Amino acid sequence: MADVFAKCRLPATYQFVKDLGVYPYYRAIEERPGGAEVVIDGRVLVQAGSNDYLGLSGDERVTEAAAGATRRLGAGGGGSRLGNGSLALHEELEARLAAFLGRAAVMVTSAGYLANLALGALVGPEDTVIGDRLIHACLIDAVRLGGARLRRYRHHDMEHLERLLDAGEPGAGRLIVTEGMFSTSGSVCDLPGIARLARLHGARVVLDSAHDVGVLGAAGRGAAEHHGVEDAVDVQTLTFSKALGTVGGAVAGPEEIIAYLRHYARSMVFTAALSPGCAAAALAALGIVAAEPERRDRLRVAALRLSGDLAATGYAVVPADRPVMAVPVGDDLLCFRLWRELFDEGVFATAMVPPGVPPGQALVRVSVTAAHTEAHLDRIASAFAAAGRRLGLTREG
Ligand code: PMP
Repeated sequence: MADVFAKCRLPATYQFVKDLGVYPYYRAIEERPGGAEVVIDGRVLVQAGSNDYLGLSGDERVTEAAAGATRRLGAGGGGSRLGNGSLALHEELEARLAAFLGRAAVMVTSAGYLANLALGALVGPEDTVIGDRLIHACLIDAVRLGGARLRRYRHHDMEHLERLLDAGEPGAGRLIVTEGMFSTSGSVCDLPGIARLARLHGARVVLDSAHDVGVLGAAGRGAAEHHGVEDAVDVQTLTFSKALGTVGGAVAGPEEIIAYLRHYARSMVFTAALSPGCAAAALAALGIVAAEPERRDRLRVAALRLSGDLAATGYAVVPADRPVMAVPVGDDLLCFRLWRELFDEGVFATAMVPPGVPPGQALVRVSVTAAHTEAHLDRIASAFAAAGRRLGLTREG
């Protein structure tokens, strides 16, 4: 009889990459001095892979709020929201988020992943979900959980989306799913195009604003605000683990949808409530997102500067004011080697290989935050220049 564990073997390439000393994952951070540096193996490096875009995770107002709520209400939720774990603090956060986002209702979850997974309750085998080719794994998991059919259109390709909408079975429910700002490239979806096609084809729209809430839009409400099409989005999901600097997630939408999810979303009903510390941290961070738009401005300036430097060095990076940038490498091993060169130069970036990206499209992901100083950006840029020369990746190579 076959042993189910027999398949649980890491491929030989895993050990090969480890032996070469270029294995980039699960590197343990010992300390986080300031918002933009980390200590690993006793060395101080510039953090160039964090999603803490506004630099709020270490902000004293946020950490104090978390500490106060933890002292008052405990370190854990103590149960599921549905049963005995709901706090007035969760409800306060939901009301504040609803007001901030301009949505009728909000359901707070214990992670962004769980917020997206909740969407599985909205679709069934009779429905088709049509998503951008590069949507995040948790959106795909939601479709699987709901048992719906998944169709994917080429990244940002509105003609392809239209063809898939046309090809759908008449009468079947259709849901278009996209990320606002994409997590690996920082590019922003064509939400006006999606809104037009959704209207034309009677499809619903879900926007995953994980990376764009707090970052895009004058008020920080994300990609839909940025494009001026908030009304075209039926349901918006977000996470607290990026610009809000903590952990947790939320689904925002019409009252009846959120009420339904509170009772039918498995990732809400069958898991422990968000911890009081994280809920209070998210509330405090939300206040800062609204009150300090200059953080978004600083972020844009920093992003434009670094992406400009990388492009000038000869990397295939298009200068843009988005905090996430992909440095394309292609080959997986070369990607690991670039990551290691950067690490040795004192920069902690992220190596992304399949299945995190499509095969043959390995990349090093770099993110800037409002906590980076000019000196940090200089160090990132010069590390890339030196690594590119050594590996022959850039013009100067
Ligand atoms: N959506 C997107 C686009 C993401 O990139 C992520 C996490 N990287 C999530 C959702 C899940 O969020 P969380 O980390 O809060 O679970």
